[in-house]
Amino acid sequence: MSDRKIQMVDAPAGLEGQGFFATSLDSLVGLARANSLWPLPFATSCCGIEFMATMAAHYDIARFGSERLSFSARQADVLMVMGTIAKKMAPVVKQVYLQMAEPRWVLAVGACASSGGIFDTYSVLQGIDRIIPVDVYVPGCPPRPEQILDGFMQIQELAKSESTRRRQTPEYKELLASYGIE
Ligand code: SF4
Repeated sequence: MSDRKIQMVDAPAGLEGQGFFATSLDSLVGLARANSLWPLPFATSCCGIEFMATMAAHYDIARFGSERLSFSARQADVLMVMGTIAKKMAPVVKQVYLQMAEPRWVLAVGACASSGGIFDTYSVLQGIDRIIPVDVYVPGCPPRPEQILDGFMQIQELAKSESTRRRQTPEYKELLASYGIE
């Protein structure tokens, strides 16, 4: 039997990183994820009506593989917050986010969800990014269905390009920790 020891060597310069197999697998998984995102619509007011139009035949969100709305947080991929979020409602939004499995994305639809909108008052949360991390913001009061679809396509781009390891990275854990999420 040979007593030669196996020696690991560093990859040559320019070829470091995750390697061909891991990066190609990332692309494949990203493509599959991006075209089957299940939204959880958290609609509290008028922006929710625009979402109904986005779902309906004319705009047809099924074209993006996302016609299956998930009202169960554990089966949802994208939390779509649409409407004014009162401070009393904030813990509920956060609870729904916490119940979602990774990888999860968040779309803030409209001025109210993004920044409190016109309701600069004591009772309204001035943007859901005060309580949970947001991936994409859709401007408008209300945004048209085209804008909502554009925001959704931005989420698809994120899903496509995201490494399968991102959710285990220290940066992501740090982001969650900044919201008090373990
Ligand atoms: S952004 Fe405008 S349309 Fe949307 S929920 Fe707020 S007030 Fe209503």
